[in-house]
Amino acid sequence: MKQSHPKGLYLLFATEMAERFSYYGMRALFTLYMVSALFTTEDAFEIYGTYTGLVYLTPLIGGYIADRYWGNRRSIIAGGLVMALGQFLMFLSACFVQNSIASEGAAIDATINNHLSVMLMFTALGCIILGNGFFKPNISTMVGDLYAPTDKRKDSAFTIFYMGINIGAFIAPLVCGLFEGDFSNPSRFRWGFLIACIAMVISVILFVLLKNKYLVTSDGEPIGLAQSDKPKFQQEQSKPLTRQEKYNICVIFIVALFVIFFWASYEQAGVSLTYFVNQQTDRNILGWEVPTSWFQCLPAIFCVALAPVMAGLWEFLGRRKLKNGKTLEPTSIQKQALGLAFLAIGYLVIAIGVDDIAPGTKVSMMWITSLYFIHELGELSLSPIGLSMVNRLSPKRFASLIMGVWFMSTAISNFLAGHLATLYPDGASEVKSILGFQISTIHDFFLVFVVMSGIASILLFAICPIMKKMLGNQEV
Ligand code: GLN
Repeated sequence: MKQSHPKGLYLLFATEMAERFSYYGMRALFTLYMVSALFTTEDAFEIYGTYTGLVYLTPLIGGYIADRYWGNRRSIIAGGLVMALGQFLMFLSACFVQNSIASEGAAIDATINNHLSVMLMFTALGCIILGNGFFKPNISTMVGDLYAPTDKRKDSAFTIFYMGINIGAFIAPLVCGLFEGDFSNPSRFRWGFLIACIAMVISVILFVLLKNKYLVTSDGEPIGLAQSDKPKFQQEQSKPLTRQEKYNICVIFIVALFVIFFWASYEQAGVSLTYFVNQQTDRNILGWEVPTSWFQCLPAIFCVALAPVMAGLWEFLGRRKLKNGKTLEPTSIQKQALGLAFLAIGYLVIAIGVDDIAPGTKVSMMWITSLYFIHELGELSLSPIGLSMVNRLSPKRFASLIMGVWFMSTAISNFLAGHLATLYPDGASEVKSILGFQISTIHDFFLVFVVMSGIASILLFAICPIMKKMLGNQEV
């Protein structure tokens, strides 16, 4: 019979859902807030790109400190509080912001006050970047630690956890989006930021109140404790790495390298794909025009809807045995390669959709919807399975640090995604090119991502046997 999951998983699910609600709620308003009163569009895009890159870089620090000193629990609480402070500073920033179209006297005040708002905003970003570093790798590591190292339920546990992430990511822009301000009323954004702050506080309170009761292994051992709070026999920090552990870490690093290409293509959703929806997609339904920002909810909706389907598919394939005793279920690394393949297919579909459309013509919204649908099949093959794989392969004493390394590929991708988005042909400037490949149409632009993720997928599939050798008889 299928064993159910420990209650601790649902505590981590709820804590992460509230935290992601806070993160994505703020992110949905962030660029709009900046351009409404503080920065030019170009500067705002640049700040946005740097911010989304840096939030995934700090997990290296947060992971290291947790493994070495604080443990996961303390790091999550500290990170959560610092992020809540960050969201509160965003709220204050928007409280002090003044619109720039006022009478002359007020305009002078506005400049002075907006200096304050800008300063508060950058301090806020610093807090969120630092806080996320302590929160994100540690909560992900704890999911895996609820189970015994070889427990088969880890993949499905991470998939359930991933649903929590996406429920938060889906609801947040809808709720915080109700408080969009504009040029004439930029301080209206403050309510959205305050909601993000409250969600973060709720996340920390939930975690603090319930952690002792639920965050235990099946034998009742507490997980996520600081080194100094652990019984002596569990304090193994200074043990040198074994040969197999070194191989395992090497495999994680290689896969992380490929994953960079996944997120760099996937994260176009927030940049060039949103621009495409705005400019080149017919958003009319029975005479009503669907707002551009609503399309950003599609990936998260598909993700939540498809998560049980994908988990069921892996289980189904896992039960189908071949003659040689192996199952039909792909290995975790093959699933990463499959994720990249889905990404390439998604871009291929949309490239076909926009093939030889005349400039200025809009295509059916079916194309972007199909792309997001296919990309979610890819995200579910890659992301939760990747977290589970990293947790299973990492030596326990470095688990959170290595999770930080895993998130570092997202950081690099987010920087890269912004640069790749600038290849989007806007019609006005000269023809752009990448590695000698000319991009004169949107069709060409989408082909860049087909080629990039397609090649990465094929290469990863090709080196799977080598990595299997490195892993020996461990089941991954
Ligand atoms: N959507 C995921 C999250 O916010 C993405 C994580 C990642 O590694 N890029 O947690």
